[in-house]
Amino acid sequence: MADLQTVEAALAALLRDVIPTPSEFLPCNQAAGRVLAEAIEARLDVPAFDNSAMDGYALHHRDAGKRLPIGQRIAAGSPAVPLAPGTCARIFTGGEIPPGADCVVMQEGVEVMSDLAAIPPDIPAGDNIRRRGRDVAAGDPLLPAGERLEAAALGHLAGQGITEVMVRRRPRVALLSTGDEIVDPGRPLAAGQIYNSNRPMLKRLLERFGAELTLVTSIPDDPAGTRETLSAAALEADLVISTGGVSVGEEDHVKDALASLGQLDLWRLAIRPGKPLALGRLPGREGREVRFVGLPGNPVSCFVGAWLFLRPLLGALQGCPALAQLPCLRARADFSTQTGPRRHYMRVVLDFGKEGVIARAFRDQNSGVLSSCVSADALAVIPAESRIEPGDTVDCLWLRVE
Ligand code: AMP
Ligand code: MG
Repeated sequence: MADLQTVEAALAALLRDVIPTPSEFLPCNQAAGRVLAEAIEARLDVPAFDNSAMDGYALHHRDAGKRLPIGQRIAAGSPAVPLAPGTCARIFTGGEIPPGADCVVMQEGVEVMSDLAAIPPDIPAGDNIRRRGRDVAAGDPLLPAGERLEAAALGHLAGQGITEVMVRRRPRVALLSTGDEIVDPGRPLAAGQIYNSNRPMLKRLLERFGAELTLVTSIPDDPAGTRETLSAAALEADLVISTGGVSVGEEDHVKDALASLGQLDLWRLAIRPGKPLALGRLPGREGREVRFVGLPGNPVSCFVGAWLFLRPLLGALQGCPALAQLPCLRARADFSTQTGPRRHYMRVVLDFGKEGVIARAFRDQNSGVLSSCVSADALAVIPAESRIEPGDTVDCLWLRVE
């Protein structure tokens, strides 16, 4: 099987010369999940001023251990006036530390009698104060280009008063199905027909990877229709994906149409599931080149292929390094298996127990069994020509990610 190629080689070919999508300005409240097209610098110090981490009393630490008059009351959001020497201020969490104070003692430690606060002794300077600029200082890097705007990053932008960001346009994807036997749910099945599982599955995965589906349709089973669909798809999309009909040597219009319109390479990968993979290029709008990826028709192969190839490709199209590689966990196998010349991506559930992580393989790893993907937390990567026994350590690619 010397002619089988590696995932790594196919991935390198797929990602070669990928140009990220153009950038666009978006209001932050529409930018969740988008990828920053440029680095963002902090404009403000956060916190913007020294403030209290507690409800309590602000004072100068040299006055610890004394009874102090309470000179002012500082709630969060109200301004502080300078502290008169030998006094303290009633202060609440988030309240501005008044000039002249350098520590806060929490209210539980203070006894108040006839307007005097009895302060406990030995309070270090700085106690219970959140310093100005502790989180970020104006001019500091806030978020790097390539950051996907998730919850905390959106909070961080808002903390700076930022309302608009420059992000990558979502990659436009055309998702095409091949196969005369494939029927959309909602229509009756004739003998020999099956429902289209790949379409909703890939739609969901592609959206999670940041894509916008601009065209979702089937490729008609004739040469002219195939050419027409593919060239129209390339005008609407940054990436054209098809499923089915990439088995080597198969009678297939997609192959011919691509070869005549653009360029197509058929790969035979040393993996299970998902051996055949078609990578190509099509002419797009304004002379741009549009990527084509043909995944095998088997739903399990499609599922695995989407994680292995489409996720990094969508990452490259968005300039987002976080999508380049799946997180890898080491787990103990609860199964035995043996591989031949092909690397096996087994669908496993991970148990996070006291004894560490255990990878439990779905009972039927056949590439036609989509049940194996439904509950899969991870793909256990079993190298070619290897033997795994229960208790052996296996690398698992974690799928509970975007
Ligand atoms: P192919 O790669 O076209 O040879 O297809 C391999 C297997 O996957 C065949 O059994 C097809 O019927 C099946 N298949 C192809 N496309 C789909 C699809 N969209 N949904 C479900 N099964 C499919
Ligand atoms: Mg087919």
